[in-house]
Amino acid sequence: MKLTLTAAALLCVATNAFTTSPSFHRPTSTSKTSLNMAVPKADSYSITLLPGDGIGPEITEATKEVLNSLCDRCGFTLEMKEALIGGSAIDEVNDPFPDETLKQCLESDSVLLACIGGYKWDSNPRELRPETGLLKMRKSMGLFANLRPAKTIPQLLEASTLKREVVEGVDVMVVRELTGDVYFGTPKGIEEKDGQRIGYNNMIYSEGEIDRIARVAGDVASKRSGKLCSVDKANVLDVSQLWREVTTDVITKEFPDVELSHMYVDNAAMQLIRWPKQFDTMVTGNIFGDILSDEASMLVGSLGMLPSASIGESGPGVFEPIHGSAPDIAGEDKANPLAMILSAAMMLTYDLERPEEAKLLEAAVEAALDQGLRTADIKQEGDGCQLVGCKEMGKVVADLVSKIDMPEAIAV
Ligand code: NAD
Repeated sequence: MKLTLTAAALLCVATNAFTTSPSFHRPTSTSKTSLNMAVPKADSYSITLLPGDGIGPEITEATKEVLNSLCDRCGFTLEMKEALIGGSAIDEVNDPFPDETLKQCLESDSVLLACIGGYKWDSNPRELRPETGLLKMRKSMGLFANLRPAKTIPQLLEASTLKREVVEGVDVMVVRELTGDVYFGTPKGIEEKDGQRIGYNNMIYSEGEIDRIARVAGDVASKRSGKLCSVDKANVLDVSQLWREVTTDVITKEFPDVELSHMYVDNAAMQLIRWPKQFDTMVTGNIFGDILSDEASMLVGSLGMLPSASIGESGPGVFEPIHGSAPDIAGEDKANPLAMILSAAMMLTYDLERPEEAKLLEAAVEAALDQGLRTADIKQEGDGCQLVGCKEMGKVVADLVSKIDMPEAIAV
């Protein structure tokens, strides 16, 4: 049986070096939105693994090795079963998110996704593109809230393209709405009008959709510094005007301790580069969040380091790196598996109720960086660090998981 916790349990995903393993909080507010966060702590869990495309299978293998090492050390089992998604699913069954994959995901305790996409499928019709599979998965699993932490990693400060004084101490959580907005709005299409083709999509949000993501953001902000910035384009867009009104209403009434500010998206994009430390929690719609969370990720150095969690009101969450399938390096053993390993840590925290084991994973990743190991994406010229491939990084982290000091709570 699944436990259901409120969005309050989302809390501070960034008090630790990477994602943080928070302690769980039972519902205390009258929030209407409740999020499924975890199955009860068990000896065995069923996990759907979605390796996807490009570097996906490589980082999945590395992550599996690390998780197996964690299970051996901590005395529990993860029954990991793979399923198809993205381009590989198109190739095999002509569907980027087959029904069998959805069924398997919904029957699992949690889902760990690598990445999808690639040049090979870029000219396919929309319904046969890998990205369509991703959108279908989010929609059909009701994953409306996406949490993306971007916290400076001390060992990688020099990997950022920004000055040390700008990025040192950055700790931003972007809460992105994931199942609405212009990505899902209708009508949409390309058609002939007055002798030329026109393309159109519909940027649309209902009050209910804004209300539930605002509650998640309020909960997250209240468990962090209490500062929440809502990002919109209310000076131009009607949909943003509604976003601003509903967000203000929810936060003012439900989260009186949260200090809410509003910012236009163009200014937010600029401020994130100019002085990112002004932000703590940001909440925004799907398309603005897509862009801003990638921008925030570059503050901390590399896409290859950043995990994310996508969570709905019930059922398993999906945990995935924020990066894509990196087709430019696929199959070359150059991929950084750490974002997927850290996504697995978020999965342990939010879906499997094993936050201490998540801390162990995070500590092992940190220890690998402390040892000076770097994949190409985080290696700086003259940094004195050792360049390693995806396999080696996975092997070292797996080894460290079996050796380093364990948080007391799970010592066996
Ligand atoms: P990308 O994230 O795949 O790659 C951007 C750059 O970052 C590339 O130079 C790549 O080599 C590098 N990179 C990304 N992840 C890395 C890692 N783990 N280790 C080392 N380097 C890494 O973005 P893109 O090039 O814009 O997109 C490539 C494909 O991925 C496209 O088909 C796109 O649609 C898809 N995509 C998928 C997802 C997802 O699965 N959630 C997200 C974004 C893009």
